[in-house]
Amino acid sequence: MSQPVSEIYAQPVPFKAETRQLLNILIHSLYTEREVFLRELISNASDALTRLHFESLTNREILDPQAELAIWIETDPQQRTLTIRDSGIGMNAEELAQNLGTIAHSGAKAFLEAAQKGDVKLNDIIGQFGVGFYSAFMVAEKIEVNSRSYRLNDSAARWISSGEDTFIVEPSDKSERGTTIKIHLKEDASEFCDENRLRQIIRKHSDYIPYPIYIGNDKEPANQRTSLWRQPPQQISEEEYRQFYRQFTLDFQDPLLKIHLSIDAPVQLYALLYVPASAERSPFGLRKEEGLKLYARKVLIQEYAKELLPSAFLHFLDGVVDSEDLPLNVSRESVQSNRVMAQIKRILTNKVIDTLKTLAKEKPEEYNRFWVTHGRSIREAIATDADLVTALQPLLRYHSLNHPAEWISLDDYLLKSPANQTCIYYLTGDHQKSLENSPHLDIFRKRGMDVLFLTDPLDPFVLIRIPRYNGHDLVNAAGEDLKLPQQGSVETTSTTTPAENGEEIVQRFKKVLGERVTDVRLSPHPLQAPLRLVIPEGTIQPEFHKVYRLLNQNYEPPKPILELNAGHPILIAMLQVPADSPILQRAIELLYESALLLEGLHPDPTELAPRIQDLIQQTLEKTPHE
Ligand code: ADP
Repeated sequence: MSQPVSEIYAQPVPFKAETRQLLNILIHSLYTEREVFLRELISNASDALTRLHFESLTNREILDPQAELAIWIETDPQQRTLTIRDSGIGMNAEELAQNLGTIAHSGAKAFLEAAQKGDVKLNDIIGQFGVGFYSAFMVAEKIEVNSRSYRLNDSAARWISSGEDTFIVEPSDKSERGTTIKIHLKEDASEFCDENRLRQIIRKHSDYIPYPIYIGNDKEPANQRTSLWRQPPQQISEEEYRQFYRQFTLDFQDPLLKIHLSIDAPVQLYALLYVPASAERSPFGLRKEEGLKLYARKVLIQEYAKELLPSAFLHFLDGVVDSEDLPLNVSRESVQSNRVMAQIKRILTNKVIDTLKTLAKEKPEEYNRFWVTHGRSIREAIATDADLVTALQPLLRYHSLNHPAEWISLDDYLLKSPANQTCIYYLTGDHQKSLENSPHLDIFRKRGMDVLFLTDPLDPFVLIRIPRYNGHDLVNAAGEDLKLPQQGSVETTSTTTPAENGEEIVQRFKKVLGERVTDVRLSPHPLQAPLRLVIPEGTIQPEFHKVYRLLNQNYEPPKPILELNAGHPILIAMLQVPADSPILQRAIELLYESALLLEGLHPDPTELAPRIQDLIQQTLEKTPHE
């Protein structure tokens, strides 16, 4: 990739095509909040300082080892220039050409992709993408980047460009380590020569940068470097929390929840965690991966620490963890096996669970928003981590037969159930709508009993972990032997039809369906629907059929038991038709298949269409014309 220095120095180097495209947009942009360019340059300087710091932990061969790690900003209103200098890692000529000739910044890439789609107003979104170094061309006529690498043998070099088609790189006499970016401001950008304006921008966008940012002759840095997480929570306003989150993630949606922890025992620990409003990580955000930013004694150890929380929690948490008890030189490997890390993990996990429980109790509406957005992670945590099951099961929420639009917990369910109900009933399926049509609910509707709707693909795995809750078995409402609570004299185990008709209709179904079912019988519970399929006891529960089918295309679900409602008009009418009539056979098959459909067990629903059409035709042809 990198060109030899002799070639770079010889002549202007063309920008890569996509960089040219980006520059073209930025130079001509009418974006009004151009000030964000400063945030980008300061953030680059801060990264360069952090990288130098990392390097210095293991490498003694560093230029200017004593230099203060800081950022200096100077202005010259006469010349209309703004200069940003850092004592960071620096760049040699090749690195200048490589880093500032192509697009490294992922925000810039995402921005360009959006630009190519052309369906967004680019001026509205530049600031949100955070397009990196090149954003300085929104305010610059010309930029000079003068840099010297920390490596003792590298020479200094200068990169110059007006943002048009090319840049040049030339030798420089810069003697101290780091990078100086001199911006020749456009005429209409002279506001960025005003030191007060710069102080204000830094307070707004870069206050949390961990290195001092000195402006002009100021002795005090313009940024408070407040590691916000190290401040006492009672001194921090909600706005400050929100602002930190925005700067940290570039997520412009306010977080759903924030957790700020500051403790001294059993380990010293600061943590500031956020639950984002969206479950999707934005491609434009600053946090590219899951994981928490880990500091040990104010030094960044890991940008995306993944061992600090159960992995499922990392989907919904973002933030910073900082501990005085972690050794500075803790390497990636030893992080995993470090005792303090294990303690931190336990503390954070408990704190997150407690906070969610409190939220559920005190602000159920907000908790429901969390559940809708991130409930998948809670299910995943239960499914994958046996240790968390007890703590997390109270956080589960479901829609149900009696609460189709509300989110109820297992506790709510029990609270609203009759005292003699010993089970928690549920039904699994793809959608709530299809569950609501299920014949299995007839008996429950009749009795006013509730059934939880389990529609998430992870629910079956959650069920494996929670066979019982608070002394109540979780029971599938589609199961064969529903142990419903006694209901005094109203309780009936027979169907609403005379038994002799019943026997005849059962025989007719058996004859047609043969081996396809384990058994045909009259439903022991009153049904509204003409029939239902139940899952024989001791076979694989229906919620797993789909999982098995995913794993094995040839998977055959266990043969169901068909239960009939002999009092249903269709079945009564069936008895009027001669037993050997072809239409009876078709009708029985279609009914059976409609029941398969309702269970989501039909192997090929499309195959039904021609037979339905056939039946319609026959019916119409048989209907006497008036
Ligand atoms: P990003 O910072 O996201 O990588 P940029 O386009 O802002 O993208 O910067 C491109 C690259 O230029 C950086 O990755 C870094 O290697 C280098 N760079 C930018 N500014 C500095 C700086 N002040 N010191 C050292 N390297 C820098």
